[in-house]
Amino acid sequence: MLTLDAKLPQGPIEDAWTNHKDQLRLVGPKNRSKYKVLVIGSGLSGASAAASIGAMGYQVECFCFQDSPRRAHSIAAQGGINASKNYRNDGDSTWRLFVDTQKGGDFRAREENVYRLAELSTAIIDQAVSQGVPFAREYGGKLANRSFGGVLVERTFYCRGETGQQLLLGAYQALEEQIAAKTVNMQTRTEVLDYVIIDGKVRGVISRDLVTGEIKRHVADAVVLATGGYGNVYYLSTNAKNCNVSALMRAYRRGAGFANPCFTQIHPTSIPASGDYQSKLTLMSESLRNDGRIWVPRNKDEKRKPSDIPEADRYYYLEERYPRYGNLVPRDVAARNAKDVCDQGLGVGPTGYGVYLDFAAAIEQKGVDAVKSKYANLFEMYERITDDDPTKTPMRIFPAVHYTMGGLWVDYNLMTTIPGMFAVGEANFADHGANRLGASSLMQCLADGYFIIPVTIGNYLSGLEKDNLTTDDEHFAKVEAEVRDHANKMLSIKGKRSTNSIHRELGKIMWEHCGIQRTEASLKEGLKKIPELREEFWNNASILGVNESMNQSMEHAGRVADFLDFGELMCRDALLRDESCGCHLREEHQTPEGEAKRNDEDFAYTAVFEYKGEGEEPELNKEPLNFEALPLMTRNYKS
Ligand SMILES: Cc1cc2nc3c(=O)[nH]c(=O)nc-3n(C[C@H](O)[C@H](O)[C@H](O)COP(=O)(O)OP(=O)(O)OC[C@H]3O[C@@H](n4cnc5c(N)ncnc54)[C@H](O)[C@@H]3O)c2cc1C
Repeated sequence: MLTLDAKLPQGPIEDAWTNHKDQLRLVGPKNRSKYKVLVIGSGLSGASAAASIGAMGYQVECFCFQDSPRRAHSIAAQGGINASKNYRNDGDSTWRLFVDTQKGGDFRAREENVYRLAELSTAIIDQAVSQGVPFAREYGGKLANRSFGGVLVERTFYCRGETGQQLLLGAYQALEEQIAAKTVNMQTRTEVLDYVIIDGKVRGVISRDLVTGEIKRHVADAVVLATGGYGNVYYLSTNAKNCNVSALMRAYRRGAGFANPCFTQIHPTSIPASGDYQSKLTLMSESLRNDGRIWVPRNKDEKRKPSDIPEADRYYYLEERYPRYGNLVPRDVAARNAKDVCDQGLGVGPTGYGVYLDFAAAIEQKGVDAVKSKYANLFEMYERITDDDPTKTPMRIFPAVHYTMGGLWVDYNLMTTIPGMFAVGEANFADHGANRLGASSLMQCLADGYFIIPVTIGNYLSGLEKDNLTTDDEHFAKVEAEVRDHANKMLSIKGKRSTNSIHRELGKIMWEHCGIQRTEASLKEGLKKIPELREEFWNNASILGVNESMNQSMEHAGRVADFLDFGELMCRDALLRDESCGCHLREEHQTPEGEAKRNDEDFAYTAVFEYKGEGEEPELNKEPLNFEALPLMTRNYKS
């Protein structure tokens, strides 16, 4: 049984973070260089954490598997980052951002965390501006804003459609400064494969140099996982091809609780899949829903070009079904409605699984240049992929796996159930509950990295007694041997089937059985099929090459092996959560209009899974959720 002490602050929520910080123990400036912190990941959460912790004077070693920290997947983020600055004077506030986020997540997040996130949001923008991040500006020079789904204010700051890239450049510059100052030692093209736990605390990691294959040991006083999300368990997703779950699964196997693994966000506006051999999907940012109107033809056998279909024969289904929020309903609602109209036979495109996102009305009203200036690179990207110009003909879009709200369980200090091991960014189960509102991930990654972890890690380190542990310790040798055994086991399979095809099959199982909608029967079926596919992997996978060299075949195989175990954990969680909430739609629990129907009496908790050993069922632990500041309410985006 895990001990889930969330270390939540007491007192009014408005003062909670400030009071909590005041109680935390500090490490004095002169002592900081005695402590070594390993940061695994250099995306927005990892780069901001490593740079900030390094700047404080701790010794930091930062790892990523790309050839440069600035190639982390965060670079793909498009539409924007939220902050309750109220520059639009449209009634925004910390409280309103807190309410929107809690409601958007369908009350399956800790309210103390969500409030802190809203509170820190404004400082993030100041930090980024001071780093030179080129946010879009109004004519008078003020930072511009736009809307994202699930809100009635304009609080999203953006750099056209490349917000993630510009924010990452800001964090990367800060990181590079610390690399030059030698407080951060950067390890690129290196994959962390396992963790060394001594006396219950994390004390190091084992890594593999992806160029030479060399296995290395690294000693630490604390480890911060900033390893991103696991949407690629579905094979097709909007995530970068290399995003994976291995760093989290291996921490889970060493004792870190895994929280809400089944909460997966399906984004409504991706370019539809075009064939079986596609390896990833391309997102069209939610920001496009500010100016794009979503519709399908009213008649099933419509054959006319979209521009020839008159208004009367167009079904603007979101605007009709949700008059208050229209096209800006939250992502789970938009995604389910798109699937619904396609299931009714109204979908467009060769597969019938597509809907239109149409800019004609905005172009007529504002002019093509004004619209293009907001979304330029997104339009270009769409045109390059589809050979259609979205200013002339509507985009075709369809829902795709995009973001994972689950991750390692962390307390209010962002520490996992393994002392000394922290998780930040998409890697933790975080603040988004059962559904993340758009533009809130970048906000959380940077709140964690710039403002929370640099403070809370000191509290942990100050309580540590310094010792002279080195990588010669027997615990390191033992974990290293286990890492080598795992690689040798994979290399000895000598089967016939590519690990890519096994991954693709797993993705299909996940999409069909644990996808946009789930049922008890579909999940049970998934739980039957995944172990069979795992058997196939361990008996018939073709993994070439040797361990001690560059070996991408083995790298990939290790990740697929972890996805197979993880897919099972996801289905198990989805089956046990016998309610609908946010993105988790169990078909058995819906309102007559097809909205998610929560069961607060039985499921107002975070599900935290505990590893019990190879082949054993994991144990479900529960962290109850309390709603004191904001009482539970039913989500309603209609009126
Ligand atoms: C196409 C797209 C558009 C998006 N647009 C937005 C948006 O507009 N606004 C918004 O708020 N959110 C957006 N998101 C979500 C957001 O981009 C991500 O949630 C966020 O960037 C994740 O950052 P991260 O730091 O947690 O992880 P990542 O940026 O994924 O970084 C993970 C890091 O971990 C490293 N790593 C992983 N495993 C290991 C290992 N075993 N060993 C060593 N290193 C490892 C990687 O090398 C990498 O450096 C978007 C997501 C996608 C897919």
